[in-house]
Parts: sequence; structure tokens; C-alpha cells
Amino acid sequence: MRNQIAAANWKMNLTITQAEELLNNLLQQPKQLSGHQKVVFAVPFPYLSLAKNKVSGHANYFVAAQNCSNKKSGAYTGETSAEMLQSLGVEYVVLGHSERREYFSESNVVLAEKVNIALDYSLTPIFCCGEPLNIREAGTQNSYVEVQLKESLFHLSAEQIQKIVIAYEPIWAIGTGKTATADQAQEMHAHLRKVLADQYGKEVADAISILYGGSVKGSNAKDIFSKPDVDGGLVGGASLIAGDFAQIIDALK
Ligand code: PEP
Repeated sequence: MRNQIAAANWKMNLTITQAEELLNNLLQQPKQLSGHQKVVFAVPFPYLSLAKNKVSGHANYFVAAQNCSNKKSGAYTGETSAEMLQSLGVEYVVLGHSERREYFSESNVVLAEKVNIALDYSLTPIFCCGEPLNIREAGTQNSYVEVQLKESLFHLSAEQIQKIVIAYEPIWAIGTGKTATADQAQEMHAHLRKVLADQYGKEVADAISILYGGSVKGSNAKDIFSKPDVDGGLVGGASLIAGDFAQIIDALK
């Protein structure tokens, strides 16, 4: 079975004390996960080492950064390189979150560079894509998201693309409490898998995990994750609440 992933995106939230408390709450009684089920904590940069220490010894629990530079190293004040993340033992990096695209002007081209450098340093990109409300209302969401994939990922080889996790996050559902229905999520995920299959073949497409993100909560995760092309979720708000995120982990297939 494809990897099923519950990924917590803490964004720019929590003090170090609160971060430690949340991780302690979730890891005191870690879930018994099957080999294909994984939990990833995408924490702010200052807490990466803390999170890495906390998850060590817990099988199938991993740490992610929320971004990395498209540059290798050098005079880029304020940036964090993929190599630095690798040196901390970080395994995943979220790339192309809609908040990065919107507030930090990250383009599909820059994201292609970030994907490359992440793979160079053995980080697994969690590549985010998703359409804004006006595109959904115009009914052109499929082609919009397809372009995001093509421009940032389709230069990769078949071997490389299987190392990517895709997160479909309709922007109108992020942090709004307005979740896509399970059927809307399935429809887009099936479309993305077809686009991947057209480019790389069915076997490759079937191996790639596609997460759904957008107001996933303990109460709706099971319904959304039950869909055949939904392989877990990238979770913002609800990942800051231990009980809610624990329920989301339980909802993994
Ligand atoms: C996210 O930040 O990736 C996200 C999906 O946020 P939320 O779950 O709060 O909608």
C-alpha cells in the first residue's frame, strides 16, 4: 500500500514550551503504526532539533521543515539550506505552501529549484498545490493545479518523482473551516494521479502519496481519508491540538 501520512503544519505558531508540551502529549502514547503509516511534524525552524530529539526512537514519526532555500549556501541572510536541514536529521520539507506562494511570491519555477535541491540532500518534498476560490468558481481547478505540477515537478525523472509527496490544498479551504467534501478531494486527487500517469505511467503514479489539506479535523479526517486516492492529510489548525491530531492519525488507512 502507498504511504499514508498525517502531516502537521504548525506554521508560525507556538513558543518552545508549548511546542514541547504538544510533542510530549502526542508522543507519550505513540500510536502503533503500520509500516506504510507515517506521522510528520512540520515545525518552525528553531524547533527542528527539539522535534527531532522527541521523535527519535518512535518508528514512523518524522520531522519536516516548512520551507528551504533554492540556493545551496552562501550570502543569503535569513535563509535555511537543504543541506542544513539534512545535517539536523530532518527528513521532509514542505514546499510551495499557498502561504509561501502568496506572501513570499514563490513561483512554480523557484519551487522547481527548491524541489531539486531538497532531493539533492535526500529530503522528501511535500509539494503543495491547490487553486484559489475564483478558479474553483470558474470550474478550471483541474488545469490550474495541473500547471503547478507540470512547472515544478515534471522535469524530474520517474525515479525522482516517486520520492515526492504531493499535498492538494484548495486555498479556499485552508484555515477557513470550509473543507472540500470528500468527493471533491477524491475528484482532484484522481485527476492528479491521472496527470502523473500520463507523464510517468500508471505504476509510478500509483506509488505517489497525495495528501489532502484544508480544514482537516479529527471529526472529518476519516471520511476524507477513506477515499481511494487520498493518502492522508496536511493539517494546519487541528495539528496544534493534541487530541484532534491524535484522531487524525487514527484516521489513516
Ligand atoms: C495548511 O496549513 O496546510 C492547512 C491545511 O491548514 P488548515 O488545516 O488550518 O486549513
